[in-house]
Amino acid sequence: MRIIILLFTAIITLGSCKNDPGNSNNAMESTSPQLERKPLSVPAFSADSAYLYLNKQLEFGPRIPNTNAHVETKDWLVTQLKKFTDKVNVQEFTANRFDRTKLNGYNIIGSVNPDQSRRVLLLAHWDTRFIADHAIDPANEGKGVMGADDGASGVAVLLEIARILKENPIDVGVDFLLTDLEDQGKSNDPDGVSWCLGAQYWAKNPHKSAYNANFGILLDMVGAKGAKFKKEQISLNYAPEILRYVWQLANSMGYGQYFINEKLSGGVVDDHMFINRIIGIPTIDIINKPTNNSFGDHWHTENDNIDIIDKSVLRAVGQVVTAVVYRFDANYL
Ligand SMILES: [Zn+2]
Repeated sequence: MRIIILLFTAIITLGSCKNDPGNSNNAMESTSPQLERKPLSVPAFSADSAYLYLNKQLEFGPRIPNTNAHVETKDWLVTQLKKFTDKVNVQEFTANRFDRTKLNGYNIIGSVNPDQSRRVLLLAHWDTRFIADHAIDPANEGKGVMGADDGASGVAVLLEIARILKENPIDVGVDFLLTDLEDQGKSNDPDGVSWCLGAQYWAKNPHKSAYNANFGILLDMVGAKGAKFKKEQISLNYAPEILRYVWQLANSMGYGQYFINEKLSGGVVDDHMFINRIIGIPTIDIINKPTNNSFGDHWHTENDNIDIIDKSVLRAVGQVVTAVVYRFDANYL
């Protein structure tokens, strides 16, 4: 088994498009027995391409709501998704920050095969936090967070997957939901509702009436060196099957150093919480949380910059999520 895994990883790294050798664990392959499997071919995820998409976002500066950088980034993201997807919706909305500052928000949704009923929701937030409230040097607190990891990494992985889908078409639908106003909340907010304002808005006002998806995957902080993705409690509560599928698949692909078979104690307030609760799409969160009480030393600090990013982590997450999408298309889940 070890040799097969290594071979599979090597094939992907070489950039060729090869048949997935499948998985010997039948327990994770039985969720859609009614649909006949199609030949499975999982394209290679390019970490170099994702890294460029990440860096481009940083060139705009911190993507803080009500700034020029925020609007310019929105326009760039719309342009990218228009290249790769069949339909792009931009939801403009306003929401009050916890201190009653009115924020201009933009949720951006790029849809592949928009009329297909079998579909996947992939999401990440694109805004960055307006204060670095865990800054190492307090002088940096007011500058906001650059968000190489917290914001740009998830979006970068999704843009690369969108590019892959354009080059390697599938039959199922995929929606790329880039949420805004995720990271403007209040520390120690007991119910978490001051966070994830864009996801809350979208879940109450989806871009399409009667919108549904079979499952959703949220990417948040998926690019930092030494990332550890553990099984988060809200994901386990609402979407246990997809969570176990993703972790087993990641481990079978050789990414067990990042996708850890451990539960986090307690849930994480993140976009998926509102997607699960409000619109009822079973959605998991792939989020770097090395310990039960820390998102890593760079989180909400001046150190969340390009130096923290590791292409190997982008590749692991990107290749796993790409494999999930193509496996879903081939009726493996
Ligand atoms: Zn954050």
